[in-house]
Order: sequence, then C-alpha cells, then structure tokens
Amino acid sequence: FKVPTVANEPTKSYGPGSAERAGLQAALKHLRSQVPLDIPCIVNGEEIRTGIMEKQVMPHEHKTVLCNYHNADEALVVKAIDGSLAAKHDWENTPFYDRAAIFLKAADLVATKYRYKIMAATMLGQGKNAWQAEIDSAAELVDFWRFGVKFAEELYAVQPPQNAVATWNRTEYRPLEGFVFAVSPFNFTAIGGNLAGAPVLMGNVCLWKPAPAATYASYVVYEIMREAGLPPGVIQFIPGPAPEVVGQVLKHPEFAALHFTGSTHVFRKLWRDIGNNIEHYKSYPRIVGETGGQNFHIAHKSANVTSVINNTIRAAFEYQGQKCSACSRCYFPDNLWPEIKAGLLKAHTRIHVGGVEDFKNFAGPVINDASFKKVKSYIDWAKDDTDSEIIAGGTYDDSVGYYIQPTIIVTSNPKSRTMMEEIFGPVVTIYVYKASEYEKTLDLVAHSSAYALTGALFSQDRYATILGANMLRHASGNFYINDKCTGAVVGQQPFSGGRASGTNDKAGSAAILSRFVSPRSIKETF
Ligand code: GLU
Repeated sequence: FKVPTVANEPTKSYGPGSAERAGLQAALKHLRSQVPLDIPCIVNGEEIRTGIMEKQVMPHEHKTVLCNYHNADEALVVKAIDGSLAAKHDWENTPFYDRAAIFLKAADLVATKYRYKIMAATMLGQGKNAWQAEIDSAAELVDFWRFGVKFAEELYAVQPPQNAVATWNRTEYRPLEGFVFAVSPFNFTAIGGNLAGAPVLMGNVCLWKPAPAATYASYVVYEIMREAGLPPGVIQFIPGPAPEVVGQVLKHPEFAALHFTGSTHVFRKLWRDIGNNIEHYKSYPRIVGETGGQNFHIAHKSANVTSVINNTIRAAFEYQGQKCSACSRCYFPDNLWPEIKAGLLKAHTRIHVGGVEDFKNFAGPVINDASFKKVKSYIDWAKDDTDSEIIAGGTYDDSVGYYIQPTIIVTSNPKSRTMMEEIFGPVVTIYVYKASEYEKTLDLVAHSSAYALTGALFSQDRYATILGANMLRHASGNFYINDKCTGAVVGQQPFSGGRASGTNDKAGSAAILSRFVSPRSIKETF
C-alpha cells in the first residue's frame, strides 16, 4: 500500500447567505437545544458516569451550562491504565495501514459529516467565532490526522542504507513500552485530537485528559475516532481528574510518555513529578510539551506599514489572544510609529467584540473567570504604571460573558511586566525604538524573554532581514518574515518552541511522531 497524497483541508468562508453558514447555524441551534449535555468518561469503550460532576459553561454567556461532565476518580484512572495495557497487544499488532485507515476515515468524518457539529462545540464551549473554529476544529484537526498518516509512512520508510552480503539490516519502529498520557489545552480542539491521536497512530495506547474548558469538543473528537473504528481501550477518555489522581498516573511503572500542551507552570510541575518517580519506571519516559509564549513582532524601518498593522491586529487579537502563538510584544521603529499607531487605532475601532454566534464579531470572550481576572489585573497594572500608556481598549465587563476589549499598551520600558509575562488574553504591548538602533533592539528581542515560541520580523531590506533572522535564531521555534506570528499550518510550518515554551518537538511533522516510537535495530544474517 501507499498512503494517498495529502493536501491541507480547504477552509470555508461562511459568507452571508452561504450554505455553509446555514449549515453551521443549524448545528449551533441544535446544540443549544440539547444543553446541558451530560458527558461521561469513556474507559474500555464503556461510558462511565462517576457522579463527580463539574460543569463547562459558555464563555460568552457564562450563566448557560454547555455540559455537566463526570470527573474520573482514582479507581477509574487505575481501571483506565489497566484497560489500556490490556488493549495494547492487539493495537500494536494492528498493521500500520489498518491504524492509518482509522485516522483517514476520522479525518473524512470531520471534514464532511461532523464539521458543523464539532465547530458548534468549539464555538459555544471555547468562545471561538466561526472562522476561528473552522481553522481549528475543522481544518487543523483534519490536517493533523491526514498528514500524521503521511509522516508516519515516511518515518517507517527510514531504514539503514547498508546491507552486507547475506544480511538484512532493518529498523523496526516499535511503539513505546507502556502507556502515553496526553494532557490537552482548551484553546485548540485540534490539539487534543493530535495529542491523543499522534501516539496512537504510532501504535501506542493513551490516557487522554482534555482541558476542563474543552471537555465537550474533546468528547466529540473522541466519538469521531470511535466511529472511525478506534478499538475500545486504545484511548481512554478521562476528563478532569484532580491533581492527586494525575499523580497516580505519573507513579505507574508503565508510564511511558507525557504529551502535553498547556501552561509552563503545569508542565514544570509534571516534569518534576516525573523526575521524582524516575526510580519506579520501567523505561525513561518521553516528555513532549508545548507550553507558554510571549511572542514578538519586530519591524525594521523598511517594513511595509500596512502589513505590520494588519498582521499585528490579527496576531494579537484573533481568538482574544488565547493562542500560545499570539503576539504580545512589539518593537516598532520611531520613523514608522506615527503611521503604525494611526493604523492600529483605526483598525481597533473596527473590531467588533461580542457573542460567537454573531458573524460580524471579530473577537469574543476569554475562556473563564480565572482568565478574565488575570487579564484584567494586567490591564489595571498598566493603568497605574508610569511607563505604560493604554492607547486603545482597557475596559472589561463580565456581566454576561468574559469580555475584555482588545487592549493596546505603549511602554517606554522594554522589559515591562506586560512585555515579559504571559497574559494569554487580548493585550499587546508596544515599545518604540530608535530606528538607528535596529541591531541593539534585535539583541534585546533575542535575549530578554524566558519564552521562545513564535516571532515575526517585518522588513523589506534584505540585509536587515538576514541580520534579524540570524540574531533572533534562538528567540522562537516558529519565525515569520513579513507575516503574523500565529496560524502555523500543519504540513507547512511545523509548530513548537524552545526555552520555557516547550521541548520544540514540532507538532505537524514527522519529528514529533519519532518521540512516540522506540526503534529496534534488527540484523538478520541469511
Ligand atoms: N498552532 C497555533 C498557531 O500557530 C497555536 C497553537 C497553540 O496555541 O498552542 O497559531
């Protein structure tokens, strides 16, 4: 067999009067008619209702409960581990092409039958507008699975180039011994599908703990994989276990890998726990994580101003700045600043903030109360800080939904709090530098942040571009020249970063799949 050629899933535009808009609106209406849903854990293919309830609310209308879900407890987690280990033998002996077929079918189910259902789940549950839900829960999820199959095929094909006479040297890409633990974030439904899906595609079994604020959309992802043919026990869907329950997972001798996207703080804690348990494990666990960011846009004096303005507005405020890749610190030269500032302020007046079902809204709510309070505290800090000036936004209102107006801060201190700390909300801070000090500013961008996820350089001068690309080599794992620092596409820009932003294993590439195999070199003499 050969895996078919893959291409990125085309995105739909949801224009007024279009059939796709009508289809999505019908799905939203249908989902609203069903809430609050009751979402179980799924262990060994069985729906389990523990009765330990949590709720997922709609962020744009937080009095409405989208679902009540059942938290996995300690006994269920133990059962899930045992069940996954029992399912392991058959799954790892399932030929790659049969495993691949499940993921290709699941991708087709998302692209066609369930596209609007999963988008509606992402919109109402995670506060995304239609376009943001489309690029995530439709297009990126499909791409992760289709390209994953292609990358896996390429990885398996990498074989030793030399055989002596009467020998055959070969590499067997075995799954890891034990089980994988996937912990996924609220901000991308697709990431959950990849964190649980990628190890499983490579023949592993996996416990999947989705983010509480993405429980329902993650459940839909699980259900689609199940409909596509995923056998019971291969992925155990265990929402919301408490930290001490997670501790149980990390103590298990068969714990083989952590596949994580979320906060730097939680990732460090899990890493420490893994370190403390190192004596108990059969194998050294693989630790793969994508964590926080404090991502930059820097413009050289030669930059195209329109591009700087449009891309900065999009990178800072799409999905309310809740992408790990969102732009939150900018370095703009004084010669362009008056024009950039005027353009940003004009664009800002055109931003509609509001409910996710209204197609005119560019921005919606932040995810929850904790996030609302955190973002608000940074805005309040900036109001009092003598080096900072809020030039747009700066207001907030959580009476109906967790709304924060997109906020632009200008600071005279390039190391101010809002330039250094991850805010994860619609707040961007700008530092205006002397155009003659480009190199000095590059040095500042390169070395001032603990994070290194994404960054963008705007320049129309080839020498300045080369200098910037070189000096910023370690400042981000994804680097964009004359484009925004968000929106990596599977198969085009493998995604991840270094420093406090993660282990830089590149989601959407063969590299990450290689972390979930343990190769065996086989020499056979004939
Ligand atoms: N891959 C997304 C992007 O490039 C960000 C993923 C994340 O937030 O973790 O915008």
